[in-house]
Amino acid sequence: AAKADGRGVHRFYSDDMLTGARTRKLLEDDLRAAISDGAFHLCYQPIVSTKSAQIVGYEALIRWNHPTRGLVSPADFIPVAEECGLIEAIGEWVLRTACLEAARWPGSVRVAVNVSPIQFANPALPALVTSALAQSGIAAGRLELEITEGVFLDETRSSEQMFRALKGIGVRLALDDFGTGYSSLGYLRNAPFDKIKIDQSFVRGAAEPGNRNAAIIKAIVTLADTLGMETTAEGVEVQDEIDLIRDLGCSHIQGYVYGRPVRADEALRQLGVENGTAAASGFKASRAP
Ligand code: C2E
Ligand code: MG
Ligand code: MG
Ligand code: MG
Repeated sequence: AAKADGRGVHRFYSDDMLTGARTRKLLEDDLRAAISDGAFHLCYQPIVSTKSAQIVGYEALIRWNHPTRGLVSPADFIPVAEECGLIEAIGEWVLRTACLEAARWPGSVRVAVNVSPIQFANPALPALVTSALAQSGIAAGRLELEITEGVFLDETRSSEQMFRALKGIGVRLALDDFGTGYSSLGYLRNAPFDKIKIDQSFVRGAAEPGNRNAAIIKAIVTLADTLGMETTAEGVEVQDEIDLIRDLGCSHIQGYVYGRPVRADEALRQLGVENGTAAASGFKASRAP
């Protein structure tokens, strides 16, 4: 029977699947090494106010420069990190690094950090956030945590407690990729979001005549306005989309049209910060930990 089972394995796993599993294991080993090797860095993408057309913040986006594969997309490795338990260590590095780098920006500029549902389920998250704020010296109100609807999938009382703990610290909360996934309006009823990020799939094509996405964006903005939440349209690529998004009443725009994600030093340049001194007033330089 054992022999038959052994043969059976080869029947059930195609070469492709074996390769897939092996690739995944290699990716996992490499990810583990990447943390200690310092192979990650953050890029920052501007978030622009539709009213003032000024940069009011940046979203931190992780980049992994793999020794042989080159740049690996977070869309490929974040899910692996979530499955193999490495997301906690990576997420901590992202949060601390983003806060430290944001400490060099003018004090009015916010930093948005993506938080995995797995981090969100960890009762230690508020302490980590408090520590990252203290270590960097940035005000809590400058940090915006982006979470997806994934945090509601495993609904327990603890998510309500987590929202309360994070709001108690004074950080802002944004609901990322809104409109994809399950999009239950019930999420908006109880969760204290400061902002809804409208997924780029709704922005795509919205400026074309007769496209139904504009009506959906309009409805989301109306809802958000009524609930006292800001809105960011994601993935805005062309001027026509800026015009439409402004007309639809979104408070913020993020997308290639205003800038691709850039390295920390380029973000400093965009903000007019040279050699560690800010052009803007009210800026206090950070100390290294
Ligand atoms: P997200 O949080 O929704 O981030 C926005 C994504 O859209 C980014 O992709 C950004 O580069 C891309 N984007 C921005 N503007 C445009 C545009 O005009 N056109 C197009 N086509 N794309 C645009 P990126 O950096 O590849 O990140 C993909 C996803 O990976 C993120 O989606 C987020 O879910 C996840 N991610 C990235 N960094 C982190 C991180 O530090 N921690 C966690 N947990 N997840 C992260
Ligand atoms: Mg995001
Ligand atoms: Mg998003
Ligand atoms: Mg996304």
